Amino acid sequence: MIKLYNTLTRKKEVFKPIKKGQVGIYCCGPTVYWHQHIGNLRTYISEDLLKRMFLYNKYKVNHVVNVTDVGHLTSDADEGEDKLMKAIKKEGLPLNENSMKKIANKYLDGFLIDLKILHILNPDVWCKATEHVKEMIDLVKKLDKKGFTYKTSVGLIYDTSKFKNYAKLGKLNLEQLEEGARGKKDKERRNISDFALWLTNQPNHVMQWDSPWGKGFPGWHLECSAMSMKYLGEHFDIHCGGKEHIQVHHTNEIAQSEGATGKKWVNYWWHTEWLEMKDGKMSKSSGDIIRVKDLIEKGYNPLAYRYLCFTAHYKSPLTFSWESMDAAQNAFNNFKERVIEIKNNLSSNKTKNSYAKDFKDAINDDLNIPKALGITWDMIKDKELGNKEKYKLIKDFDKLFGLGVEDFKEDKIPKEIMIIVKEREQAREKRDWAKSDKLRDKLKKLGYFVEDSKNGSKVKKI
Ligand code: AMP
Ligand code: ZN
Repeated sequence: MIKLYNTLTRKKEVFKPIKKGQVGIYCCGPTVYWHQHIGNLRTYISEDLLKRMFLYNKYKVNHVVNVTDVGHLTSDADEGEDKLMKAIKKEGLPLNENSMKKIANKYLDGFLIDLKILHILNPDVWCKATEHVKEMIDLVKKLDKKGFTYKTSVGLIYDTSKFKNYAKLGKLNLEQLEEGARGKKDKERRNISDFALWLTNQPNHVMQWDSPWGKGFPGWHLECSAMSMKYLGEHFDIHCGGKEHIQVHHTNEIAQSEGATGKKWVNYWWHTEWLEMKDGKMSKSSGDIIRVKDLIEKGYNPLAYRYLCFTAHYKSPLTFSWESMDAAQNAFNNFKERVIEIKNNLSSNKTKNSYAKDFKDAINDDLNIPKALGITWDMIKDKELGNKEKYKLIKDFDKLFGLGVEDFKEDKIPKEIMIIVKEREQAREKRDWAKSDKLRDKLKKLGYFVEDSKNGSKVKKI
């Protein structure tokens, strides 16, 4: 039995698939105007674990992720510039369609590399907004025909008062909605929460398509409704995204999809908590971001970041600090070392244990990965169980963790690295901590991690 927390009901529910043994999952993907940071990647790691949990339970998974390459304005209230247009200007490129594609491809390529480095499984379908404008126009035509729309100088607007369940997902109090991020009050708008389906009158925008409502481009929310229904059908199982999408983006997606079809669209809404810095959410707009590239340059193994994400439940905030990253690198190194020891000595001793069952119960209980990790460590440290039996379990559990245990190898430490380690040990003997720290950083930059213990220093490849 799989249980998942459903934002729609604010309850943990038993998961019932629409089709037995199958699950359709749609995840809101990146807006490709800038690098994805390790905060964004926490969400993709959480979603990867969700997908792997279903695969672990032998489900056939159909996983769809979109790529926003047009229409996402700097403010969710249909104001400001398209984020990609802003990026063209920032990077000094000519204002044309080619530049927009160049920006989108550049940041999408970087994102795909990060996913690979972090062992995040590829979705079955990647879909780009610019390649699905026809589907979006068709969807708006349906809404238009059913009387959900009206025109203003901004473009074609969705009248949210016409959709009965508009407030449901976000538990919104529509009478008390205030202007700001949530919406805009202007003379032309009927309700603060109304939003643009199709934007017109933006002559400087380099990507424009003909439509029954004039030349223009789609509103940001539209792509997720149109593309998810194209690839997963008009009714599917799970829709994922960061928690900030509940009140605006996902609320509007529901209004569009259910408004057009007249029936229920998504069964389970699955939202993730953020990666935070000590003073708040890590976000692209604040500029203060850490990328996978930064982790590598500082000498960490990016998989140690994946490991760090296992230590907090997906619905709890995770506060990032370099100290916690150090601790995760240490824990990952220990894990790797123990797995290699086990692998190198496959003695057998079958003892009765419940690790496999406990592990599955933990991941099926709303994806309790911290608990599953604890069970894995208990199993590794078990004094009775044989290594052969342990290794079999480790390989099985890694279908979920995705740390690549079968590729773990003993590190061969080159001579020149050992010279630095020795030099550092001598500095430590003389209690020259400044020199010892400096040499530790030097080793880290060269890709080696030292751990000090009573018996001297141990060095490992990161
Ligand atoms: P964006 O490219 O900004 O549209 O974001 C892509 C995904 O990353 C969305 O699902 C966001 O909810 C998620 N996200 C953005 N910032 C963070 C963060 N600090 N922690 C976790 N997820 C985030
Ligand atoms: Zn979306």
